[in-house]
Amino acid sequence: MRLPITVHRARLGKHSYRVIRPRPTPPNVVLSQCSTAASEYDMRLDARAAHRIGVAWLLAARSPRSLVHIPLRSSRSPASARCEPECFRHEECPYSTAERPLDLLLVHRGLQFRPSRWKEVRARLDNGRPETAELPTSDAPEFGSEPFEFHWIKRYPLRQHVHAETLLLTGNAPLFRELSTYFLDIAGNGPGSHSWNPRKHYCNEIRWPEIGRYDQEIHIVYDERWSGTDTKR
Ligand SMILES: [Zn+2]
Ligand SMILES: [Zn+2]
Repeated sequence: MRLPITVHRARLGKHSYRVIRPRPTPPNVVLSQCSTAASEYDMRLDARAAHRIGVAWLLAARSPRSLVHIPLRSSRSPASARCEPECFRHEECPYSTAERPLDLLLVHRGLQFRPSRWKEVRARLDNGRPETAELPTSDAPEFGSEPFEFHWIKRYPLRQHVHAETLLLTGNAPLFRELSTYFLDIAGNGPGSHSWNPRKHYCNEIRWPEIGRYDQEIHIVYDERWSGTDTKR
Protein backbone atom coordinates (compact mmCIF):
# COMPACT_ATOMS: atom_id res chain seq x y z
CA MET A 1 0.00 0.00 0.00
CA ARG A 2 1.42 3.34 -1.06
CA LEU A 3 0.93 6.60 0.73
CA PRO A 4 2.28 9.87 -0.65
CA ILE A 5 3.51 11.96 2.26
CA THR A 6 5.43 15.08 3.14
CA VAL A 7 8.10 14.86 5.81
CA HIS A 8 8.53 17.99 7.89
CA ARG A 9 10.99 19.02 10.56
CA ALA A 10 10.66 21.45 13.41
CA ARG A 11 13.35 22.59 15.78
CA LEU A 12 12.39 23.63 19.26
CA GLY A 13 15.27 24.48 21.56
CA LYS A 14 17.61 21.53 21.44
CA HIS A 15 14.89 19.17 20.23
CA SER A 16 14.17 18.31 16.64
CA TYR A 17 10.84 16.82 15.59
CA ARG A 18 9.94 14.85 12.51
CA VAL A 19 6.34 15.20 11.37
CA ILE A 20 4.74 13.16 8.59
CA ARG A 21 1.61 14.25 6.75
CA PRO A 22 -0.36 12.40 4.07
CA ARG A 23 -0.06 14.26 0.76
CA PRO A 24 -2.56 15.65 0.13
CA THR A 25 -4.92 15.42 3.07
CA PRO A 26 -7.93 13.56 1.68
CA PRO A 27 -10.73 16.09 1.18
CA ASN A 28 -13.75 14.25 2.47
CA VAL A 29 -13.05 13.78 6.14
CA VAL A 30 -13.89 15.77 9.22
CA LEU A 31 -13.12 15.12 12.89
CA SER A 32 -15.08 16.90 15.59
CA GLN A 33 -15.28 17.03 19.33
CA CYS A 34 -18.82 16.75 20.55
CA SER A 35 -20.03 19.81 22.30
CA THR A 36 -22.23 17.79 24.63
CA ALA A 37 -19.73 15.18 25.82
CA ALA A 38 -16.24 16.48 26.42
CA SER A 39 -14.51 13.22 25.58
CA GLU A 40 -16.39 11.99 22.56
CA TYR A 41 -15.15 12.44 19.04
CA ASP A 42 -16.95 12.03 15.80
CA MET A 43 -15.27 11.38 12.46
CA ARG A 44 -17.00 11.41 9.08
CA LEU A 45 -15.21 10.21 6.01
CA ASP A 46 -15.56 8.64 2.60
CA ALA A 47 -13.88 5.42 1.49
CA ARG A 48 -10.84 7.09 -0.02
CA ALA A 49 -10.16 9.10 3.11
CA ALA A 50 -10.71 6.00 5.27
CA HIS A 51 -8.16 4.06 3.27
CA ARG A 52 -5.56 6.81 3.42
CA ILE A 53 -6.01 7.36 7.11
CA GLY A 54 -5.88 3.62 7.75
CA VAL A 55 -2.56 3.45 5.91
CA ALA A 56 -1.37 6.50 7.85
CA TRP A 57 -1.95 4.55 11.09
CA LEU A 58 0.17 1.71 9.68
CA LEU A 59 2.85 4.20 8.78
CA ALA A 60 2.69 5.60 12.31
CA ALA A 61 3.20 2.07 13.63
CA ARG A 62 6.43 1.83 11.62
CA SER A 63 7.64 5.33 12.47
CA PRO A 64 8.43 5.35 16.18
CA ARG A 65 10.48 8.55 15.91
CA SER A 66 7.90 10.58 14.03
CA LEU A 67 4.62 12.30 14.67
CA VAL A 68 1.91 11.59 12.10
CA HIS A 69 -0.23 14.65 11.55
CA ILE A 70 -3.48 14.63 9.62
CA PRO A 71 -4.65 18.24 9.25
CA LEU A 72 -8.42 18.15 9.08
CA ARG A 73 -9.71 21.42 10.41
CA SER A 74 -10.10 22.98 7.00
CA SER A 75 -12.01 20.03 5.56
CA ARG A 76 -15.45 20.75 4.28
CA SER A 77 -18.41 19.48 6.23
CA PRO A 78 -20.24 16.40 5.02
CA ALA A 79 -23.72 16.83 3.69
CA SER A 80 -25.12 14.65 6.45
CA ALA A 81 -23.82 15.94 9.74
CA ARG A 82 -24.85 14.33 13.03
CA CYS A 83 -25.90 10.72 13.41
CA GLU A 84 -28.27 10.46 10.53
CA PRO A 85 -29.02 7.86 9.55
CA GLU A 86 -28.27 6.17 12.84
CA CYS A 87 -25.69 3.50 13.62
CA PHE A 88 -25.68 0.28 11.65
CA ARG A 89 -24.08 -1.88 14.31
CA HIS A 90 -25.21 -0.48 17.59
CA GLU A 91 -28.48 0.34 19.17
CA GLU A 92 -26.97 3.27 20.93
CA CYS A 93 -26.06 5.96 18.54
CA PRO A 94 -23.51 8.31 20.05
CA TYR A 95 -24.97 11.70 20.54
CA SER A 96 -23.25 13.88 18.09
CA THR A 97 -23.95 17.56 17.97
CA ALA A 98 -20.29 17.93 17.23
CA GLU A 99 -19.08 21.30 16.21
CA ARG A 100 -15.47 21.76 17.15
CA PRO A 101 -13.25 20.64 14.27
CA LEU A 102 -9.94 19.01 15.16
CA ASP A 103 -6.74 17.81 13.54
CA LEU A 104 -5.49 14.32 14.32
CA LEU A 105 -1.98 13.55 15.59
CA LEU A 106 -0.61 10.06 16.22
CA VAL A 107 2.19 9.92 18.77
CA HIS A 108 4.39 7.00 19.83
CA ARG A 109 4.53 6.64 23.56
CA GLY A 110 8.29 6.06 23.33
CA LEU A 111 8.79 9.62 22.08
CA GLN A 112 7.60 10.98 25.43
CA PHE A 113 6.14 13.87 23.56
CA ARG A 114 4.36 16.36 25.75
CA PRO A 115 0.99 17.16 24.14
CA SER A 116 1.22 20.77 25.26
CA ARG A 117 4.25 21.20 22.97
CA TRP A 118 2.29 20.45 19.84
CA LYS A 119 1.17 23.99 19.20
CA GLU A 120 4.74 25.24 19.09
CA VAL A 121 6.01 22.31 17.06
CA ARG A 122 3.29 22.80 14.45
CA ALA A 123 4.05 26.50 14.22
CA ARG A 124 7.70 25.78 13.45
CA LEU A 125 7.32 23.07 10.84
CA ASP A 126 9.30 23.60 7.68
CA ASN A 127 7.72 23.20 4.24
CA GLY A 128 8.61 19.54 4.15
CA ARG A 129 9.78 17.34 1.33
CA PRO A 130 7.63 14.91 -0.63
CA GLU A 131 8.19 11.18 -0.26
CA THR A 132 6.16 8.05 -0.85
CA ALA A 133 5.74 5.51 1.91
CA GLU A 134 5.36 1.87 0.91
CA LEU A 135 3.68 -0.45 3.38
CA PRO A 136 3.12 -4.20 3.07
CA THR A 137 -0.52 -5.20 3.20
CA SER A 138 0.46 -7.77 5.81
CA ASP A 139 1.02 -4.92 8.29
CA ALA A 140 -2.71 -4.67 8.87
CA PRO A 141 -4.09 -7.28 11.25
CA GLU A 142 -7.40 -8.88 10.47
CA PHE A 143 -10.23 -6.66 11.52
CA GLY A 144 -12.39 -7.71 14.42
CA SER A 145 -10.70 -11.04 15.12
CA GLU A 146 -10.77 -10.00 18.74
CA PRO A 147 -12.49 -6.84 19.76
CA PHE A 148 -9.94 -4.15 20.34
CA GLU A 149 -11.41 -3.01 23.60
CA PHE A 150 -11.07 -6.37 25.27
CA HIS A 151 -7.45 -7.11 24.72
CA TRP A 152 -5.40 -4.23 23.45
CA ILE A 153 -6.45 -1.33 25.51
CA LYS A 154 -5.49 -2.91 28.80
CA ARG A 155 -2.01 -3.82 27.70
CA TYR A 156 -1.42 -0.82 25.49
CA PRO A 157 -3.47 2.09 26.68
CA LEU A 158 -4.39 4.73 24.16
CA ARG A 159 -4.02 8.19 25.62
CA GLN A 160 -6.02 11.11 24.37
CA HIS A 161 -5.36 14.80 24.69
CA VAL A 162 -6.72 17.83 22.96
CA HIS A 163 -4.24 20.65 22.41
CA ALA A 164 -4.12 23.38 19.81
CA GLU A 165 -7.32 22.14 18.15
CA THR A 166 -5.78 18.71 17.69
CA LEU A 167 -6.74 15.31 19.03
CA LEU A 168 -3.46 13.68 20.07
CA LEU A 169 -3.61 9.91 20.35
CA THR A 170 -0.61 8.33 22.07
CA GLY A 171 0.01 4.63 21.78
CA ASN A 172 2.45 2.05 20.46
CA ALA A 173 2.99 0.08 17.26
CA PRO A 174 0.68 -2.91 17.90
CA LEU A 175 -2.08 -0.56 18.94
CA PHE A 176 -1.63 1.64 15.87
CA ARG A 177 -1.73 -1.42 13.62
CA GLU A 178 -4.90 -2.60 15.29
CA LEU A 179 -6.53 0.79 14.95
CA SER A 180 -5.64 1.03 11.27
CA THR A 181 -8.18 -1.71 10.66
CA TYR A 182 -10.99 0.44 11.99
CA PHE A 183 -10.42 2.69 9.00
CA LEU A 184 -9.50 0.06 6.41
CA ASP A 185 -12.70 -1.79 7.28
CA ILE A 186 -14.74 1.32 6.54
CA ALA A 187 -12.87 1.81 3.26
CA GLY A 188 -13.80 -1.72 2.23
CA ASN A 189 -17.28 -2.10 3.65
CA GLY A 190 -18.66 1.42 3.82
CA PRO A 191 -19.46 1.67 0.10
CA GLY A 192 -22.46 -0.53 -0.53
CA SER A 193 -23.57 -0.57 3.09
CA HIS A 194 -26.36 1.79 2.15
CA SER A 195 -27.96 -0.93 0.06
CA TRP A 196 -28.02 -3.40 2.98
CA ASN A 197 -29.89 -0.96 5.12
CA PRO A 198 -30.52 2.56 3.91
CA ARG A 199 -31.75 3.63 7.31
CA LYS A 200 -28.48 2.99 9.13
CA HIS A 201 -24.98 4.31 8.73
CA TYR A 202 -21.84 2.19 8.72
CA CYS A 203 -19.38 2.96 11.48
CA ASN A 204 -16.70 1.72 13.84
CA GLU A 205 -16.14 2.88 17.37
CA ILE A 206 -12.87 3.15 19.25
CA ARG A 207 -13.61 3.13 22.96
CA TRP A 208 -11.77 3.71 26.18
CA PRO A 209 -13.35 1.11 28.45
CA GLU A 210 -10.74 0.87 31.15
CA ILE A 211 -12.31 3.46 33.34
CA GLY A 212 -15.76 2.06 32.95
CA ARG A 213 -17.13 4.97 30.99
CA TYR A 214 -18.66 4.19 27.67
CA ASP A 215 -19.31 7.74 26.64
CA GLN A 216 -15.66 8.06 25.67
CA GLU A 217 -15.07 7.05 22.13
CA ILE A 218 -14.18 7.98 18.62
CA HIS A 219 -17.17 7.32 16.42
CA ILE A 220 -15.91 6.77 12.86
CA VAL A 221 -18.70 7.02 10.33
CA TYR A 222 -18.68 6.25 6.64
CA ASP A 223 -20.28 9.06 4.68
CA GLU A 224 -20.47 9.13 0.90
CA ARG A 225 -22.47 12.30 0.54
CA TRP A 226 -20.28 15.35 0.57
CA SER A 227 -20.91 18.84 -0.59
CA GLY A 228 -18.65 20.14 -3.33
CA THR A 229 -17.52 18.66 -6.57
CA ASP A 230 -15.03 15.99 -5.61
CA THR A 231 -17.27 13.25 -4.26
CA LYS A 232 -16.15 10.89 -7.01
CA ARG A 233 -12.42 11.25 -6.58
ZN1 LIG B 1 -22.39 4.85 14.31
ZN1 LIG C 1 -24.44 7.08 14.98
